Amino acid sequence: MKEILLGKSPSELKETVLRLGLPAFTAKQLANWLYVKREFDFSRMTDISKAGRELLAEECETGIVLPQESLTSRDGTRKYLFPVEGGAVEAVVIPDGDRRTLCVSSQVGCKMGCAFCMTGRQGFHGNLTPAQILSQFLAIEEAPQLTNAVFMGMGEPLDNFDNVSRAIEALTASWGFAWSPKRITLSTIGVLPRLRQYLDESKCHLAVSLHNPFPEERLQMMPVQKAWPLEDVLSLIRKYDFTGQRRVSFEYTMFGGFNDDKRHADALIRLLSGLECRVNLIRFHKIPDFPYESSPDKVMEEFRDRLNAHGVTCTIRASRGEDIFAACGLLAGKHNN
Ligand code: SF4
Repeated sequence: MKEILLGKSPSELKETVLRLGLPAFTAKQLANWLYVKREFDFSRMTDISKAGRELLAEECETGIVLPQESLTSRDGTRKYLFPVEGGAVEAVVIPDGDRRTLCVSSQVGCKMGCAFCMTGRQGFHGNLTPAQILSQFLAIEEAPQLTNAVFMGMGEPLDNFDNVSRAIEALTASWGFAWSPKRITLSTIGVLPRLRQYLDESKCHLAVSLHNPFPEERLQMMPVQKAWPLEDVLSLIRKYDFTGQRRVSFEYTMFGGFNDDKRHADALIRLLSGLECRVNLIRFHKIPDFPYESSPDKVMEEFRDRLNAHGVTCTIRASRGEDIFAACGLLAGKHNN
């Protein structure tokens, strides 16, 4: 099998080129072609000797995965479908003024089994490699215009932490995309051991899927509550500083009649009191065989206002790409789900 280069750091690329008998400086040239110039055809890497390029093409592959199709929403949101072993994954580009945010997938399906999520219903079919994660950034038409990324697509990123952190390294390192960590947010349901590692090792933002302040009710929708209770996740988060550049936010999908009354708002206020954070309320998009619908707009507005009045910053997230099944919770790796 050929060695895949995308996702490797310059020091790892150096090991590869030395093994092939190429000069050490070829590693830097390769990193520059892959991450800065975004060139994936060895024959066009013109500052590498012709023999070197031929050898690289024989022994290695860049690992770039091209999307097999894309769909554009009425609101400009664009969903790309990438073929991977075990199925397909989706990446969504969300335009908003000057911003172009990429919603990135980290796994094929997901193990976590949240009751309200189409990805969770697929079951788990594998982890994406660093090359497959980075391809979502590199192989789309909007690649040069991307301003931000959220690891909020298919899968639980902290359940594929090694590969996700390698991709984040390539995105933030000076030899890679050289993005500020402030441009990246990782969203998790709270995989506690990896969350600690993420908070220690990275400076990127954090979003936590909260959805219910009451443990027994949260457990009904999110099996993770049993292994890693929200209270433990919050005690960990409270140990880190979110008063400066790094931000923490909490995602709260509104299910009508389930988690949207005053009791929930007040419990949420108590739970988050004193923590510098933001709560994003998300409209729920109805999925088959699931009993709840989204809370009405008025209920969402009252919930938001109650939180804000008690010092918890809260906004209602605009829903994007609903008509192409690109909105939150709807990614399932098929264009006709
Ligand atoms: Fe997995 Fe996230 Fe869906 Fe839960 S909401 S099943 S963690 S993809």
